[in-house]
Amino acid sequence: MPSFLGRGEKQHSVEESNTTRLVTKLRWIVESINDIGVEPVIIPKSITTEPWTKPIRNLWQHLLLNFAAEQTFNQTLAKVEPYCSICALFKPLSRISSSKDGSKPAKNVRTLPMIPEMCFACSKDNKRPFAVNSSVDKEGLSQILTCENCKVTVHASCYGVSDVPRNKKNWTCTRCTRNQLSAECCLCCLRGGALKPTTNGKWCHVVCALALPEVKFVNIHKREPINVDTITVERARLKCMFCQPLQNSDKSYGACIQCSNGRCTSSFHVTCAYAAGVMFETSDWPYPVYITCNKHNTKEKVARDRELTELKVGDKAYVKHKNTRYYLCNIVKVEGQTYYSVDFEDGSFSDDLYPEDLDNYDVSDGPPPVGAKVWVKWTDGDLYGATFRGTKDHCMYTIEMADGTEKPHKRDELWLQTEELPKQVKSRLSTATERRFNLFYDDEIEHEIAEHGRRVKPKISYSKLLGDK
Ligand SMILES: [Zn+2]
Ligand SMILES: [Zn+2]
Ligand SMILES: [Zn+2]
Ligand SMILES: [Zn+2]
Ligand SMILES: [Zn+2]
Repeated sequence: MPSFLGRGEKQHSVEESNTTRLVTKLRWIVESINDIGVEPVIIPKSITTEPWTKPIRNLWQHLLLNFAAEQTFNQTLAKVEPYCSICALFKPLSRISSSKDGSKPAKNVRTLPMIPEMCFACSKDNKRPFAVNSSVDKEGLSQILTCENCKVTVHASCYGVSDVPRNKKNWTCTRCTRNQLSAECCLCCLRGGALKPTTNGKWCHVVCALALPEVKFVNIHKREPINVDTITVERARLKCMFCQPLQNSDKSYGACIQCSNGRCTSSFHVTCAYAAGVMFETSDWPYPVYITCNKHNTKEKVARDRELTELKVGDKAYVKHKNTRYYLCNIVKVEGQTYYSVDFEDGSFSDDLYPEDLDNYDVSDGPPPVGAKVWVKWTDGDLYGATFRGTKDHCMYTIEMADGTEKPHKRDELWLQTEELPKQVKSRLSTATERRFNLFYDDEIEHEIAEHGRRVKPKISYSKLLGDK
């Protein structure tokens, strides 16, 4: 039955409107005439009650346009460092929306983008990583821009703005510049976020394009237009495990990604997955985005609880190479190392700081008292306020790769041949011959990784941020 307004009430809220049958019926008539979605939409209870849907509840594309909800969501994504709604894909939304800090909008700042340039350049038919981005300065920082209209906040580099306007206050995103307020992503089911035009006259999220391997940025520097015509039939058939109950038919919408772990078939829209807590990590070429579904995320946590025996020089262990495969390597050095744990003001934390990373304490007399306010020198060269949480002693194992490079690793990053390997390690064991191994060491790639990957790679363990929640 249509729910009419109560006495004294002036108007339904958008949320109420979307759930009244009168409105649904009207929409159905309008949509039938226009030949769009002929089924009246009934919102399943799970979508309105499950906690993960809370931040995106008013953003579903089948609901009435709610621009205010888009603005609010865009402002939420800008709350936590590095304040970019595209980089936000690599930070759990639950942490961002619950973070009280940073609620002051980031004005006129430059921050370090979390996404290496090659993530934008990589696609199925462009496997060559791209040269350096022009809108990143020599420290690797990029200007944060906020759209005056929709409030979307992005790195100039992530959104492809090469000419940063002098008057940043009046900057508008591509969608708002073209006055396309009803623009929505053709690859997922949610509104809001940073959009770019596609080659077929539609719009799509920059993050959706980033995570879908066949989709590519035609002009890589401008991050537009986006070519979505290359999506395979197999992919188009995948259904989103999170929003499928929303669809009244068996039809699949947009394009789904799949979990990167082994043969896991979990599939989901990029934005649904993000809201539902699926973990996205930047990875190195040729797999720029690594996706861990919620099921595998718990499994990984179990793997972290494994018994860690001490190792000695000469032992062999599997270790993850920056090409994301695991290689059997020699341990060449074992050293003790004390790490400091801190909680940052933005809600993130780090448990592997070196004592000398603290700026305001002379650590030669030992660590500061637990609870002390400290300043941390970060990899981007800036100082960040944090609370000291204590120390941890670890053995560091220096391993030697087949190509002669040496790198220290923590014990939990090493896997013994005698250990039962978890699926995500087993599936990525390298069977590469020397020659193929060398392929990953193409000079240019090595350079690209050195320029972007290493510096951008945060010390914060995102898997932990999620797992400990
Ligand atoms: Zn960014
Ligand atoms: Zn805008
Ligand atoms: Zn999308
Ligand atoms: Zn979905
Ligand atoms: Zn999975």
